[in-house]
Amino acid sequence: MKSLSLFLHLAPLALGSTRPSLNQRARNDSSTAFVSTVDLQTGAKCACGKLAASYSDSVFFPGSANYTAQATEYWDIRADLDPGCIFLPASADQVADAVSVFTTCQAQFAVRGGGHMNFPGSNNIDGGVLLAFSNMKDYKFHNDSIDVSPGMTWYDVYSALEPYGRAAIGGRLKTIGVPGLTLIGGVSYFINKYGFAMDNVLSYDVVLGNGTQVIANATSNPDLFWALKGGANNFGIVTKFTLKTYSMPHISTTIQQFNETAVYDFIKATCDWVVADSEPTIAAGSVLDISYNTTTGSVSPLLLGVQEGISNPPSMFANFTAIPGVSKTNNVTTSKQWASNLDSPKQMFRVMFGMHSMYPDPDVLYTMYQTWKSAIDQIADVAGLYPTFVLNISPASAARVAQTNGIGNVWGLDDEPTIWWQFSTGWDNAEDDLRVEACIRQLTEYLHGINKKNGLARDFIYMGDAGEWQDVFPVLPAENVQRMKEIRGKYDPLGTFSRLNWGGFKLGV
Ligand SMILES: Cc1cc2nc3c(=O)[nH]c(=O)nc-3n(C[C@H](O)[C@H](O)[C@H](O)COP(=O)(O)OP(=O)(O)OC[C@H]3O[C@@H](n4cnc5c(N)ncnc54)[C@H](O)[C@@H]3O)c2cc1C
Repeated sequence: MKSLSLFLHLAPLALGSTRPSLNQRARNDSSTAFVSTVDLQTGAKCACGKLAASYSDSVFFPGSANYTAQATEYWDIRADLDPGCIFLPASADQVADAVSVFTTCQAQFAVRGGGHMNFPGSNNIDGGVLLAFSNMKDYKFHNDSIDVSPGMTWYDVYSALEPYGRAAIGGRLKTIGVPGLTLIGGVSYFINKYGFAMDNVLSYDVVLGNGTQVIANATSNPDLFWALKGGANNFGIVTKFTLKTYSMPHISTTIQQFNETAVYDFIKATCDWVVADSEPTIAAGSVLDISYNTTTGSVSPLLLGVQEGISNPPSMFANFTAIPGVSKTNNVTTSKQWASNLDSPKQMFRVMFGMHSMYPDPDVLYTMYQTWKSAIDQIADVAGLYPTFVLNISPASAARVAQTNGIGNVWGLDDEPTIWWQFSTGWDNAEDDLRVEACIRQLTEYLHGINKKNGLARDFIYMGDAGEWQDVFPVLPAENVQRMKEIRGKYDPLGTFSRLNWGGFKLGV
């Protein structure tokens, strides 16, 4: 099932040796006068020693079998690094202990949930401490909601909900982690009616940068509650997500594969759908991509369509069903069963992402597809090249969920349909890193530049699809960015999540 496993890979660039030391990075900002004085090795040695003294069975050092197994729990091989030690906490209290140790020791650290964010340093660290959630997989079902621990994947969540005929708003592939996806936004199969995964979180349990634990919801720390809806890993470590659930005993699915002659119609059906679906009554969503095999020259558009209910074939994908295709398979199933076939195994390949958003225009998108194909031809000799042109839809109705739920989110998206176009490119060998990265980065920004000139470009950049060079916060509404910085100053005055936990998409000074 390699094609299905590979179709949706979204973001990476290497920080490695150019990373400044903690001392170099120490600085004052509006929220804190914290200055760190400990280097990477000294901090990690202190923290690993203290953690091992308290939790000897859950701290692993290089050379041990457990360390080796944990060190490769990453989807993108580029994210494999060499932490000084790996700590697997078993409870929120242990996470809080660890954060206290990190601040006491001034130890640099990384946090890993499902391990799918694919750029080096976002979820792993050379020499520092890796805190990984592999031992925190418990959940509690409450019918209208479910409490989920940060070690769970979306398949775990859908499996927990299946006996009750209910579903949560989460990831589209089996092994994506709950924490990373939910903190960056979260595109699901039910986006048009229920919005993003973050819009469906009722409460977060959070360990702050000084090791204290707080709850963030509509009544307790509501400012932090808002900031966690799209604010990523800038405010604390979430140890519990309380997610809304919906009655959804069955879903109707379609898998449709096409050949190159259908590319224009496939793109047009995507644009027509996202524009037309402005007042949805049926929750529906998709994975849409076009893969290009440079060895055979074949181009394969693929639709994975899902909607709530038992209509068979699923009515929301009629525009695609009308296009002559290579194969079309419809089914009525459950979210758990559907996800069980859509794995994205760890250590798949090296991957570069790049994305931007735009108003849906099929002619321009088709030209972009042709330009992408020509650019990929120039690197066709790269071993293991796996290029994919991904089309994610963001209907106006998805933005309206946050506009009308009384909470909002940090994105503040406008009430209009957009296409989030993305290049996801896999390859085999480290020697080709710079070449592939340069190609994708230049191509992405070139096409976005053209769309800016023709008025189709939109500013929003989705963290789940972005390349690591892309600065995702400055493109959000300025007042939201300012508010996030104030909230960060209030809840993390020591700068634990900007200076010690520096990887991933950060707000900046
Ligand atoms: C194959 C594939 C399919 C994808 N499909 C989708 C999709 O359907 N919809 C979508 O929206 N996105 C999708 N994405 C993007 C995905 O949502 C992000 O990569 C997301 O970060 C993955 O979450 P994770 O827990 O697996 O990641 P990790 O890599 O474990 O974590 C991501 C970031 O969150 C931080 N983090 C992790 N846990 C916590 C915590 N408890 N508290 C605070 N910070 C934490 C990490 O430090 C890291 O910076 C996909 C990505 C891939 C590679």
